[in-house]
Amino acid sequence: MKTKKPKIILLGPQASGKGTQSHILSTWSGAPKMSMGDLLREIQNEDSDRGKTVKELISKGSLVPDDIILDIIKDWIKKNSGGWVIDGFPRTMEQAQKSWDLFRPDAVIFLDLPDDVAKRRLSYRRVCSKCKTNYNLITNPPKNDKHVCDLCGGELIQREDDKPEVVEDRLKTYHTKTEPIKEWYRAKGVLLEVDAKPGIPAVAHEIQKMIQEGQEVKKEKGRKKLWIFAIIGIVLAILGALIFIGSLQA
Ligand code: AMP
Repeated sequence: MKTKKPKIILLGPQASGKGTQSHILSTWSGAPKMSMGDLLREIQNEDSDRGKTVKELISKGSLVPDDIILDIIKDWIKKNSGGWVIDGFPRTMEQAQKSWDLFRPDAVIFLDLPDDVAKRRLSYRRVCSKCKTNYNLITNPPKNDKHVCDLCGGELIQREDDKPEVVEDRLKTYHTKTEPIKEWYRAKGVLLEVDAKPGIPAVAHEIQKMIQEGQEVKKEKGRKKLWIFAIIGIVLAILGALIFIGSLQA
């Protein structure tokens, strides 16, 4: 893709494929990607009050406070202002509203997935303990050994917060705190909805198609604006010429 790098947010419930699709989208568009969950999992290893707070909240499936999240995202955006693909942010209305004033997405892709499918996918999700690549033992298994990452040979593990007792709480939090953001972005005119049930390539294709269509609509609007300015310019020039001729004849 040779056009300007897009600014995209991926929104959706757990296991809707935000991580996988953000990786594909980042490769396709050339825009760097960030995963708030991955950043927080690094921060939880810090020997600091912030590290301890983050660790405790993630293990319970609770959200990390908005002020910590907003500081992290502001820092990251400062270094990546030319375009981005963001997964896992925002997760509350406050995060959405405060970030809208600082940096606006061109599109928010909402990956729609029912809870029962999300729970099934999470029970089969494994993540590489070294390079953090995601696998699903049913739909996207590692090629050689179900315990070993294809890319780096790291051990595949189940995240603590993917265990059934935590998943239930995470989905509840998602429905109460995160899902309402969808309608807010719709009102802003940037929401694109995608069915996340099909396989990874089909969903990726649908997302890319929607983004390209969105870019075409924007270009068309730009072309229309140019035409309107050109026509106004010509009309003004003709009027000016007529007034000038009129003044010569008077
Ligand atoms: P994820 O890998 O995206 O599922 O995120 C893992 C966990 O990190 C979540 O269950 C939350 O505890 C925390 N987290 C990730 N993103 C956010 C966010 N935007 N706001 C608050 N907490 C978050």
